[in-house]
Amino acid sequence: MENHLQTQDWGLGLKEKHLIIAGPCSAETPEQIEKICLDMKEANMVPDVFRAGIWKPRTRPGSFEGIGEIGLTWMEIVRHHLNVPITTEVGNTAHVESALKHGVDILWIGARTTVNPFAVQEIADALKGVDIPVMVKNPMNPDLELWRGALERLQTVGINKLAAIHRGFSDAYDKRFRNKPNWSMPMHLKRIWKGMQVINDPSHIVGNREGLLETAQRAVNFGLDGLMIETHHDPDNAWSDAKQQVTPRRLREIIDSIDFKKPLEAEQPSEKLQDLRRAVDHIDDQLLDLLAERFAIIDQIGDHKREHNLTVFQAERWKAVMDSRTQKGIEKNLSEKFMKELLYCIHEESVKRQEKKLREDVSVKKSV
Ligand code: PEP
Ligand code: MN
Repeated sequence: MENHLQTQDWGLGLKEKHLIIAGPCSAETPEQIEKICLDMKEANMVPDVFRAGIWKPRTRPGSFEGIGEIGLTWMEIVRHHLNVPITTEVGNTAHVESALKHGVDILWIGARTTVNPFAVQEIADALKGVDIPVMVKNPMNPDLELWRGALERLQTVGINKLAAIHRGFSDAYDKRFRNKPNWSMPMHLKRIWKGMQVINDPSHIVGNREGLLETAQRAVNFGLDGLMIETHHDPDNAWSDAKQQVTPRRLREIIDSIDFKKPLEAEQPSEKLQDLRRAVDHIDDQLLDLLAERFAIIDQIGDHKREHNLTVFQAERWKAVMDSRTQKGIEKNLSEKFMKELLYCIHEESVKRQEKKLREDVSVKKSV
């Protein structure tokens, strides 16, 4: 089932350009907020939207858990200096009420909240009848349905200005990232949910300052619609996420270094691109014909195994197929990872088809 969203630009030009959201991980003091605003102006780095966390969901108690409601009164400083909309994270009904009372323009739901349908529903119920944009970060775990479900809960209560934020996923083993990106998931979300804009949050993906540019560029290459980057006048002394925040000046450099690609839909494809696409269509047709042919033979193998009472899975044969094809693929400049994934996928389908053949036989016997 596909979801739909009336494409809206929230009055921020979301459709025409990449949205830049910047500001500190956490609001700390009125002086901090003012200094960040002034540095943003000086660096010519006024974002489209100013972010600041007021309530911080921390993994363990005892660290800075956010300044609380008083921080929202400092948002006047942002309005005064920058005159841009303000966004903050809400995690429960009380946060929603407080944010609305103080005129926060855009809300976001954090990764630790998106995992919990009770919490998301509570927030959605508190927003019934309120016309405010809401951004939903991906859940901590790579579960597209949970992410989509949170967005659906909001849409169900009438929130139509929705966006998603890709901030990466917890991974117990891969420590190259603070939260490992999964680029196919936001792209899939955009495919199944027409009109959904996905913002990328490289700060929480990489967890340091060095990797931000590369990850932000990848997000743009993958067609994501905006960037949320944590920005602080004095990152080393930030009260939360000190390692990953950058100064407004550095943010300016990062943004200037990004090669912002045009979304393809924005222009008519050239003759050349159309030719290349036709060539790809033709090859895909051939691939499908060959796959269909391959599976027809697999079905015959299934019949044979049934007749000779053999198991579907033959470990040795499978290993030989995997090894030889992977090697061939590598020689043809295809990556090992791709080859393995492709072969697993084909193999799984083959096993299912052969297994079906065995079951067919049982049903025949039963009905006799
Ligand atoms: C944040 O944006 O500061 C934050 C806590 O993010 P996340 O929910 O992605 O961890
Ligand atoms: Mn943060």
